[in-house]
Amino acid sequence: MPSILTRQRPRTCVACRTEAPKKALIRIVRTPDGSAVMDVTGRLPGRGAYLCLNVECLRKARKTGTLSKALKTTLTDACWEDLERCIERYAEEHGPEERRRELRSLLGLSRRAGLLLIGMDSIGTEARKGKPLLLLAARDCSAAVQKFAEGLVSGEKHQLVSLPVDVEGLSTALGAGNVQIVAVLSHGGLADKLKVLLAE
Ligand SMILES: [Zn+2]
Repeated sequence: MPSILTRQRPRTCVACRTEAPKKALIRIVRTPDGSAVMDVTGRLPGRGAYLCLNVECLRKARKTGTLSKALKTTLTDACWEDLERCIERYAEEHGPEERRRELRSLLGLSRRAGLLLIGMDSIGTEARKGKPLLLLAARDCSAAVQKFAEGLVSGEKHQLVSLPVDVEGLSTALGAGNVQIVAVLSHGGLADKLKVLLAE
């Protein structure tokens, strides 16, 4: 399925080999003194390696030596402990749970502000008027909804993103029943905010 999430070059976690878009992984960068720090900006100079945003992958990398090998350095116990604390804190603040919560709250606000198209009928009507739309489909939306959305984005005018939220979660966030798909205008602050939440 075409998605903004797949457009960045995927990176691989050195511990579990999971591929993820760059922003879903954290970058660990070697410092000039041969130690390592978590690179929140993703732009620190130096040899870098990627890890999933969880301490399990850090511990696995420590045990198997994959991080040290990727960074070509040996890390001290103190450095490993610092990294673990950083990752734990960062995961709490930016983890999938927190982003899903923000996403649900942003969608709820958008609905109350009248900025959200809900369901295939209203999305279809608006799409025919010609404005480019950002379609957001629930993770477990029906095959019919999926087909409808893929039909719309095949013209490359509209974009489709699969939400990390299921139909139940989406319906609850919007205070409506059985919401499988929503859409917003793809140019504008709201779409940009949604994309940031979905891409990180
Ligand atoms: Zn991993």
